[in-house]
Parts: sequence; structure tokens; C-alpha cells
Amino acid sequence: MRVTLLGTGDTTGTPTVGCDCATCVEARERGISRSRFSVHVANERTGDSLLVDFSPDFRSQFLANDVPLPDAGVVTHIHFDHLDGLGNVYRLVDGLPVHAPAETDPATDESVAETIRAKYDYLEDRIGVHAREPFEPFESCGLELRFVPVDHPPLLCFGLVIEDPQTGAKVSLTGDTSYEIPERSRGALADPDLLLADAIVPASLCEYHPIGGRHEDADGVPRTFGSKHMTREGALALADELNATRTRLVHLAHYYPPDEAFAEPLAVDGEAYEL
Ligand SMILES: [Zn+2]
Ligand SMILES: [Zn+2]
Ligand SMILES: [Zn+2]
Repeated sequence: MRVTLLGTGDTTGTPTVGCDCATCVEARERGISRSRFSVHVANERTGDSLLVDFSPDFRSQFLANDVPLPDAGVVTHIHFDHLDGLGNVYRLVDGLPVHAPAETDPATDESVAETIRAKYDYLEDRIGVHAREPFEPFESCGLELRFVPVDHPPLLCFGLVIEDPQTGAKVSLTGDTSYEIPERSRGALADPDLLLADAIVPASLCEYHPIGGRHEDADGVPRTFGSKHMTREGALALADELNATRTRLVHLAHYYPPDEAFAEPLAVDGEAYEL
């Protein structure tokens, strides 16, 4: 399994358009990009490629990285930065299976799968949307996948477990989530070779969020920023608890101070991992 981080930024990305903060300035100077979230997983045994989330930056991501177009896709939730790139597949791929959660979201009265079908009806003859129940394993690209519920109010959102049944290699993605990931989901995400964890900002920035931070650790450090995303400290605590062999922090905002924004283990676009 070869995992390429196509997009490691939050919804505005880094550099953010129109922003002259020190972090965006340094990113431009160093040629570092954190585009909107997407991960490419190549199964080198079968030659198939899976795309996790369809970034609005789909086109530039596939131009910048030497990876094949996807043979299948997965969508974790319906936010703009994870779904709105799906229209890019028009005239690029044919018969693309897209796997999405089947659970009805009380906030929209639809499942993620149903929202995709309705929003992308013009791709009807290009994609096939497959509704998948949480925790139920399904096969795609020769890999075994499972959606696991996480916590990203007010929408339903799912993490993803990807395992190679031949080699036992395991990748866990938290999806967009607060630190309050249900126990059963933590169990499914546990012991990955590679963990990709939402870490939108450092905990020190919680004082600037209108509702502050939540889910404090024993030292009072918030592991959730506002209500929707983990802090860096929250993501690292989770990595520890899940016993991750390797952790990359993703979905990063340009609000990280410049001396912290490019430090380990914060990911940048284009990183690739062989598992
Ligand atoms: Zn900025
Ligand atoms: Zn989101
Ligand atoms: Zn997001």
C-alpha cells in the first residue's frame, strides 16, 4: 500500500487566498502547500487506486503528484472541502464506484450517500454511489474498508479504516472530528501502521474560538478546538491512545504560528508512505 497525502489543509488551505499572516508568507516563500483534504491510496498488488475524499483542489493535486487517477472513491462527510471536488471526475474517469456512509443524518434527513446522489445527479452514468453501514467491512481496490462514526457537529462524519488483507498493513483516518470519538470507533481505529489525525490548530489558540476549547486533559489542555476539530494536543493524545506506529497531523489551518506550522509531525502536501 502506498499512501500519498494529496491535501493536508483545512477548508481555506495554506497559504490562504488573500492572507498575509506570517505562516502564509513563509509557506509561499518555501513553496509549501496545504490544499484541501484528500488522500490517495495505491494498492500496488492489484494496481488499483482509492481516493479518500474529493478535494476542491483535485485538479492541481493530480497535476502536482505522480499518482494514477482513482479506480474508486470514499467520502467521509458532505462538507465542501471533502466533497466538492467530485465534479472533477467528469470526462476523466468512467464507472467510478463511490463509497459513502448509509446512516441518515438528522441534520439533513439524508445519508452522505443520498446527498451525493442528489447533488451529483449529472454524474449518474459516470459514478455509482454505494451506501455503506458504519463498522461493516467492505472491499474496494483489493483493500478492506470500514467507516467509523466520529464527532463533527452538526453533521454526521466518519473516520475510515483501510486494511490490506494480504499484508495486514493498516491506515486509520480520524476524519473531521472532535476528541470525543466513540469507544467502539477508537477500537476499530486502534493499532494502525499510519494514523492521519485532524489537528486543526494548537490548543493555545482555543482562547480565540468563540466557544473556546473542550475535552481538557489532566493538565487542563483542551483536546478539542470549539466543537468540531481536535487540537494538535488532542490529536497527539489520540495517537498515543491508539498506539499508532506513525502519525501525521492533517487538516491543518494557517493559524498555526510560523515556528510551529512546519514542525513534525505536521504533514504537508505530497508526503508519501509505503506500508
Ligand atoms: Zn494566513
Ligand atoms: Zn468537515
Ligand atoms: Zn474538513
